[in-house]
Formats: sequence, structure tokens, C-alpha cells
Amino acid sequence: MNNEKKTWHGIPREEVPWIPTVDPEACIGCQLCFVTCGRSVYEMHDNTAVAVLPMECVVGCSTCGNVCPTGAITFPSLDSVWKLEREYQIFRTVKKEALLKHEREDSLKAREAAQQAVAKVSTRAKIEIAGEFGDKHFLVRLEELITDRPFDIVNLRLEVPTVKGARQKAPSFMHFELTSEKQEDVGSFLLEVTRLVHDAGLVLVSEQRL
Ligand code: SF4
Ligand code: SF4
Repeated sequence: MNNEKKTWHGIPREEVPWIPTVDPEACIGCQLCFVTCGRSVYEMHDNTAVAVLPMECVVGCSTCGNVCPTGAITFPSLDSVWKLEREYQIFRTVKKEALLKHEREDSLKAREAAQQAVAKVSTRAKIEIAGEFGDKHFLVRLEELITDRPFDIVNLRLEVPTVKGARQKAPSFMHFELTSEKQEDVGSFLLEVTRLVHDAGLVLVSEQRL
């Protein structure tokens, strides 16, 4: 059992007189307050709303009272709350609470930004190229590009229409994937490869980050 006393900005909750009161004569048992309250303050007893956990009511909230169709729910005057705020000088506590909330929100935002940045990282990319590969030494230049670097080319396929056609410099089709051996983003390497494709006079059919 949790024996920790509930407080409202440092004031013991039982000293804050903000609780709903239901007039059982006016209640028609519509259950709107029971459904509306997110703090489970109400139960329905014999078709009448009963505030069974009044101290769970959020200080200053009056939503159930506002929506009750018969005005059966009332709250104390706000003056009593304002008086307590002054007596307990709660704004020193509120300032500390606000600081903590800012810190929590900032760290949440930073975590979301980091998650978004990670989500944008592509460690693989697929490339499709068409053209005449015969005397362009494209594969040799591609190999030079990955030598001593943490990238590799995988699943490379060269589709030549016919061997004779290739000799006669008929266009062929090549596709392969770029991968990062260190699981890092391949974006800049992809740029280098597409430059190489253009320099070799080949046609970049598509590039896709995976
Ligand atoms: S909203 Fe009003 S009328 Fe409806 S159950 Fe609650 S107290 Fe009763
Ligand atoms: S005022 Fe708000 S928190 Fe309190 S009982 Fe009504 S709906 Fe629930």
C-alpha cells in the first residue's frame, strides 16, 4: 500500500477543499460525470452519481460540473483555493515544478529529435544503371571507390542482352546495392557513386535508399 501523502504544490491534498458535491435529488443518473472524469472520482450507486474518491479530483477542474445536464454537481468557491495559494506561498514550489517540467520536456524533445535522426539513416541503397559498360572500366572504378573504405557493393548483377550484342556495344543493365560495413549512413557514398555513373557516361535509372 502506498502511504505517501498526496499534495497539491506542497499543500496536503486533504487541506485543499476542492471536491465535487453531488445533489442526489438533482441527479438523473445519466452517468456523464462517471464517463467524463479521468480520475475515477465517481461511481454510480442506485442510478445516482457518488463521488467516492473526492480527493482524486484535480484542483481547479470543474468539467463534470460544467457538463452535468441538471447542474447537480457543485464545487466550493475558488476563493478558498486562492487563499491557500497565498498562505502556503505555493509559487516557490510551482517554480521548481515548472523547472523540472521544462527539463523533462526538453529531454523528451531531444530524444524525439535523436530518434528521427536515426530513422533517417540509410545503411543500404540500391542503384540501377543502364548503358554500354564494355570499355568504360566502370567496375574497376567502382572497386577503387570502395577500396580501404567502410563500404561495399553487394548483389551486383549485370544483364547483357546477348554476348554478341555486348561486343557490338548494345546497352546493358546493371543493378547493385551499396552497404555500410559500420552501419552508418550511405548518403554521401551514394552521391559519389552516382557521380561516377555520370562521369562514365552511363544512365542512372534509379537510386533508392533502403
Ligand atoms: S452528470 Fe449529473 S445528472 Fe448525470 S449522473 Fe452525473 S451528477 Fe447525475
Ligand atoms: S472536476 Fe474534473 S477531476 Fe474533478 S471529478 Fe470532475 S471531471 Fe473529475
